[in-house]
Amino acid sequence: DTTEASGAAAPGDVTNVAPLLPVVGHDTYVPLVDGRRVTYANLDVAASAPALESVAQRVAETLPLYASVHRGAGYLSQVSTALYEAARQAIGAFVGAREGDLTVVTRNTTDSLNLLAGCVPAGADGGPGRVLVLDVEHHANFLPWQREADATVLSGGPTVAGTVAQVREELAGAAAAGAPYALLAVTGASNVTGESLPVGDLVAAAHENGARIVLDGAQLVPHRRFSLADTGVDYLAFSGHKTYAPYGAGVLIGRRDWLDAGTPYLAGGGAVRRVRTGTTEWHEGPARHEAGSPNVIGAVALAAACEALAALDPARVHEHESALRRRLVDGLEAIDRVSVVRVWTDAADPVGVVTFNVTGYDPGLVAAYLSAEHGIGVRDGRFCAHPLLGRLGFDAGAVRASVGVGTAGEEIERLLAAVRALVEDGP
Ligand code: PLP
Repeated sequence: DTTEASGAAAPGDVTNVAPLLPVVGHDTYVPLVDGRRVTYANLDVAASAPALESVAQRVAETLPLYASVHRGAGYLSQVSTALYEAARQAIGAFVGAREGDLTVVTRNTTDSLNLLAGCVPAGADGGPGRVLVLDVEHHANFLPWQREADATVLSGGPTVAGTVAQVREELAGAAAAGAPYALLAVTGASNVTGESLPVGDLVAAAHENGARIVLDGAQLVPHRRFSLADTGVDYLAFSGHKTYAPYGAGVLIGRRDWLDAGTPYLAGGGAVRRVRTGTTEWHEGPARHEAGSPNVIGAVALAAACEALAALDPARVHEHESALRRRLVDGLEAIDRVSVVRVWTDAADPVGVVTFNVTGYDPGLVAAYLSAEHGIGVRDGRFCAHPLLGRLGFDAGAVRASVGVGTAGEEIERLLAAVRALVEDGP
């Protein structure tokens, strides 16, 4: 059999699928002692994605222009201020910010959602506003509502349709009872399974019942073209370090009124118009929530990443990441004792996040084996989603691999071969 003799690929093999964009470090793998290459970042993009080369280039060009933002008349201060404001504009444009929406630069998604939690208007009884949230959320889109708002948590059902119906029913029931929800907080894509609920249906359910909707875009925005204007989503949060930019910058984008009326997120310079002993006049607009010297380089880097993604055909990104995900799921499910985690039986078109378990092996051991023996970096644990992992019966955690525009098909094949070796030969 000639195909076998030539070592032909397994069905669906993606060895020859090339990354769509170069990321920093892609061609400088650290060689392991026996000469094998490591793939540490490209299969763990859901945790933090390696920076695009174009982003690194932009950072290098911007560093020499470093100067105080919004605070100096000097030439470099003016340049830095212009760069910062242009970055804000570009990030907003990338996600279809509407005229009048604010783009607040934060540290990350967690920061953005905490900021918004402090701006949810009070309920009819004068207490904290009501927020509806599902138990599938990352802690970043769960704990702020539990702590700052009057949060109700739904588990949803085994299907997307049933879960959306539950959400709609809960929102409508509250509105009919005269205690409407102020906000529905929901993920754009699960950081555990890549699955999502249909945004259009959720927006309609929220708006029909007097609520707004915030989307946790941490796992969505880097992988799918998203638009606030087209979807009607009110608020969007996402992180630079998951969007092929460095750590330290994220954004909250959305409707101005709540943000202008909310308590300033940080108290300090830049957020105020006028201060006297005992009285403070706070700014409105993004400055209200951005006290202190801002992360100019982080914002510029995130804007560069947005521009690079915007220049790609979204259909190509979708095709690339879906092909790698499909191969990963099919390949893992073909291995004895390996099971892939799902929240819903009917989720359409998940992003490239795949969580799995190998029966008989602790997830931490699987991840350590993949790293030590095969030079593959993946995430293990409960992915900051304890309620979901607990409900699905994975209190001991699981193993997660994830892909993006910088991931090569060859890396998927190496991961599959490594998991196969673990199951067949032991660690
Ligand atoms: N939301 C989701 C869906 C995530 O995957 C993550 C990060 O893992 C976060 C929020 C929190 O992001 P960050 O750590 O950048 O604040």
